[in-house]
Amino acid sequence: MCHVTNDLRKAVAKKHKKFFERHLQLLPSSHQGHDVNRMAIIFYSIVGLSIFDVDVPKKYGNNISWMRKHYIKKMLNDTNNTVISGFVGSLVMDIPNATTINLANTLFALLSMIMLKDYEYFETILDRESLLRFVSRCQLPASGSFVSCLDYNKNSASLVDSDDLRFCYIAVAILYICGCRSKKDFDRYIDTEKLLGYIMSQQCCSGAFGTHNEPHAGYTSCALSTLALLSSLEKLPDKFREDTLTWLLHRQVSSRGCMKFENDLNATYDQTDDGGFQGRENKFADTCYAFWCLNSLQLLTKDWKALCQTELTTNYLLDRTQKTLTGGFSKNDEEDADLYHSCLGSAALALIEGGFNGELCIPQEAFNEFCRCVIIRAP
Ligand SMILES: [Zn+2]
Repeated sequence: MCHVTNDLRKAVAKKHKKFFERHLQLLPSSHQGHDVNRMAIIFYSIVGLSIFDVDVPKKYGNNISWMRKHYIKKMLNDTNNTVISGFVGSLVMDIPNATTINLANTLFALLSMIMLKDYEYFETILDRESLLRFVSRCQLPASGSFVSCLDYNKNSASLVDSDDLRFCYIAVAILYICGCRSKKDFDRYIDTEKLLGYIMSQQCCSGAFGTHNEPHAGYTSCALSTLALLSSLEKLPDKFREDTLTWLLHRQVSSRGCMKFENDLNATYDQTDDGGFQGRENKFADTCYAFWCLNSLQLLTKDWKALCQTELTTNYLLDRTQKTLTGGFSKNDEEDADLYHSCLGSAALALIEGGFNGELCIPQEAFNEFCRCVIIRAP
């Protein structure tokens, strides 16, 4: 286990809390920033604080009304006066006839509301039909994939926006949070078959998922999480599943065992990264890939902890990329801590410890309580 005493651990945990709290100083309602990424900032900070046992609803509950203001309903410029809804990243970005609501902000906001326990929002404010109509319109009819926002001139998926497995994941996660569970539920809003076809088309020959047959741990985690939320993991062919497992295990930097030989051939292998994960072949280990790889592994096999010796990953994160002075985690041992890697480093540790929902990237208890308290009517 980690080579630090309990007292030191507590001291470091305190620094991590401070690190995440600093990022939430942008929350107060008086603040009117232009930062379009602020829903992401809020989400990453709240996940981090929840992992370090901060009572987030108690401490940040007074920001709920400010969060709710970012939920926008829009009437489309069509003959049916179609209404869609979703979250904007910044209130100053809500410009008429411009692309403002987007899928990523919507997922970050919904998950943040779940962790803040704003159940009233889900029961009385959220207009599920118009929100899911927005998600539905982000699907590309030809490929089945998703983009993040609409082209308001055409009232359909924006074709200048990129589409890939990330947006497929985000779309399905929103549907899942809004109560979709069975294929019939999902089919009410999206073309599930077409989406599954798209996901399967992103399989790489050597296992795992990626664009242009280049496997990537981030896309792999998105693809497997999407399949898990759609209860469709069993649709993966056995050989592909085995190859993916092998590919993922080979992403772990290891100075021992079967992975050693390949790593010795790998010029970018750094022995001091022992236990960490790389996101692609021939890349250095990186904190965020510990999460993307471990989440992928836990979705594929019950034996994931033994297969990759997660205690080595814990040591890599605590001894190598954790910042004991400033709090937070960095991408590698050279950079400063940043919010994204701090969130995913903490999430990887929480996944190993248990009680973390990897598919939604929030503590399992937060989601359980949401499901207990909010009556999710079948769509
Ligand atoms: Zn990274």
